[in-house]
Amino acid sequence: MASEGGGIREWINGPVGKWVVGVVVVLLVGGAVAMWVFRSPGQQAEVERVKQMGRKHPYACLNKDCGATGIIQVAWDATYPAECPVCHRKQAMTGFKCVNPSCGKIFAQSDKSVFFCPYCNKKYTNIMAGQNRP
Ligand SMILES: [Zn+2]
Ligand SMILES: [Zn+2]
Repeated sequence: MASEGGGIREWINGPVGKWVVGVVVVLLVGGAVAMWVFRSPGQQAEVERVKQMGRKHPYACLNKDCGATGIIQVAWDATYPAECPVCHRKQAMTGFKCVNPSCGKIFAQSDKSVFFCPYCNKKYTNIMAGQNRP
């Protein structure tokens, strides 16, 4: 004679039971993760701290009278062109830092498929070029 408990155990081990147990586990884990993300004050403070710090990015000013290059500190959600820290015009574009260890200079990023560092003439192949075009 199967007891009441045996019946439930059989049901849990069956295909429907396994599915229900799986959903309950997913809900529990998902709830725990959501609690951790939304309720943890440390996590929130960390997100705020990173947001306020902004990000550092190589830039090249497109203003011909300026032409400054360097590292710019921009807001977390900043869009380009950003304000050039030298001439204060909104002409600072994303720069490219030369990977040549003896150069390391920053110059304006090119959308050409092949471009050269204007300082050391190192050749670069732009794998991103043309990818967004239809
Ligand atoms: Zn400038
Ligand atoms: Zn270079």
